[in-house]
Amino acid sequence: MSVELKQSVNLPTEKMLDQSAHWIMILPANVPKTLWLRVPYGETIRQFRERLHQPENNEALVQDLPNTMHTRLSHACVTMDISSFKLLGLARKLVDAHLRFKPKTLSIMVMGFDGEHTERLTEAVITAALAAVARLPEFKQKKDKAQPLKQIRVYGCSRGDGFARTFAANEGNTLARRLSMLPSNKLEPFHYRKEVEKLAKAKRWNYEFIGINELKKRKCGAFLAVSQGSATADAGIIHLRYRPAGKSRETLALVGKGICYDTGGNSLKPPRYMFGMHEDMLGSAVALGTFLALSELRVDFAMDCWLALAMNHIGPKAYKPNDVVTASDGTNIEVVNTDAEGRMVLADTLVMASKSRPRLIIDYATLTGSCVHALGTAYSGVFSNRNELLSLLIEAGSDSGERVWPFPLDEDFDEAIKSTIADVRQCALEAGPDHIQASRFLQRFVKNDTPWVHVDLSAMNNKGGLAHIPTDSTGFGVRFSLDLILDKDILAKVKQSE
Ligand SMILES: [Zn+2]
Repeated sequence: MSVELKQSVNLPTEKMLDQSAHWIMILPANVPKTLWLRVPYGETIRQFRERLHQPENNEALVQDLPNTMHTRLSHACVTMDISSFKLLGLARKLVDAHLRFKPKTLSIMVMGFDGEHTERLTEAVITAALAAVARLPEFKQKKDKAQPLKQIRVYGCSRGDGFARTFAANEGNTLARRLSMLPSNKLEPFHYRKEVEKLAKAKRWNYEFIGINELKKRKCGAFLAVSQGSATADAGIIHLRYRPAGKSRETLALVGKGICYDTGGNSLKPPRYMFGMHEDMLGSAVALGTFLALSELRVDFAMDCWLALAMNHIGPKAYKPNDVVTASDGTNIEVVNTDAEGRMVLADTLVMASKSRPRLIIDYATLTGSCVHALGTAYSGVFSNRNELLSLLIEAGSDSGERVWPFPLDEDFDEAIKSTIADVRQCALEAGPDHIQASRFLQRFVKNDTPWVHVDLSAMNNKGGLAHIPTDSTGFGVRFSLDLILDKDILAKVKQSE
C-alpha cells in the first residue's frame, strides 16, 4: 500500500473545505484577528474555540463544519517552541479524529507560520498519518474491508523532494514494527532470513548469510553458545551491503540484536516477563529499517548492516551458567545468566562489523531491563566510546522526537564483571547498572577503537503508543537514526574528532 502525496503552496478556500470530508488545520497560538479573517471557516472555528473557554495551546480540537458534507475538521493552535515529541503526539491526535471514518483522502493545511515552521508542522502530521495507516500483522478471521488511506493533500507548503525522508522513515519504521509484531512461530530466524533475502533482491543490496557452520569456522563461540539451544540450526548473521554510485565518502555499519524469541534459556524467565519476548529482535529490525530508509534516500556513503539472528531456547544442549565460552577475538567469557544472550550474539557480530574499520558503528538492541528501570519506556538509552558524541545524540533524540539519554562508560564499571576463571564475566551476579555493564562488555568487542554508539531500546514498547506511533510496539530508532546521520552528520563529526 502506498499513500500518494499532493502538495500546493496555496491555501484552500472555504469551498474546498466543503468538497472534502477530512481536514486537519494548524494555526499559531493566539491567532491574530487579521489571520482569523483569512482562515476558511475562521469565524466558525473561532466561535467553537471560544465556547470551549480558552482551550490550551497545542491541544487537538475536533468539530464538524456546518456544510452539507459535515466536513470533519481537527485543529490546533500551536506554539513555535513546541518540542518534537509533543508535536508528534499532537499530530497523532489530529489524525486520530478521522480514523474511524477510514478516510481515503486526508487534507492538511498549516497557516500563519514562516516557511520553516510550516514544513516542520506539516511533516509531523504526514508522519503521524502514515504511522496510523501502516499495515501491521493481524491474525483475525474477520478482516477489515475498508479502503485504506490513498492520498494526503498538503496546503500551504510544497517541498521539492515531496517529503521523501518522511516517507522513507515511515517505511523503515513500519518494517521494524511489522517484524517485531510477528509472533515468534511466524518469524523464526529461517523466516526472517527469507524475508531479508527477498528485500535485498528487490533493493539490489549485496546479501550474505553467515550460518552455523561458517560461524563455527570463524570460532564465534559467544554467538554459538546461544544458538546451540535450538533444535533447528537456522541461526546466523546476515550481512547486507549498500554501495552508492560513484565514490563513497565512508562506511557506516549498523548492527542489530535479533533474538526471535527469548525464553531466557536455562535462566528461564517467569511467564509475566516472557510474554512479549517475540519482540526481542527489534534491534535487528531497527538496524534493517534504518538501512532501508537510508538506501531509499540514496545516501552517498557506504553502509554495512549486520543482523544477529537466533533463538534463546531451553533444551538439553542449551548453554548454562558457569559455562566458559570463547568469542571469535579469543575472549573467554564466563556465563552467568543465560538470559543475557543479547550481548553474547552481539559480541561476535561487533567483532565482524569492526574488522573492516567502518567510520562508525551503531548497534541497536533490546538489551537490558535495567535500562527500562532507569529511563522508563518513553526514552531509550545511548552509550558511546566517544564522549564528545553524547550531546549530538541527545540533540538528535530531541529533534526527531525519538528521545534518548546517555549513560557513562568509565572503566571502573568493569569491576562488577571481573571473572576469576575467565577474561570477563558475561554480566554481574549482583543487581546493579546492568545496562552500563552490558555496554562495557560490548565495548570489548568493538575492535580497532572504532567509534561506536550503542542504543539500548528501552522504548521498544510503550503502552498506548509513543509520540506519533499509535501502537504499543514503537519501532523506535529509525527516525532518531535518520536525524543523527543526515541532519547531525555524525559521520563527519566522528571524522573531525579523530
Ligand atoms: Zn534475554
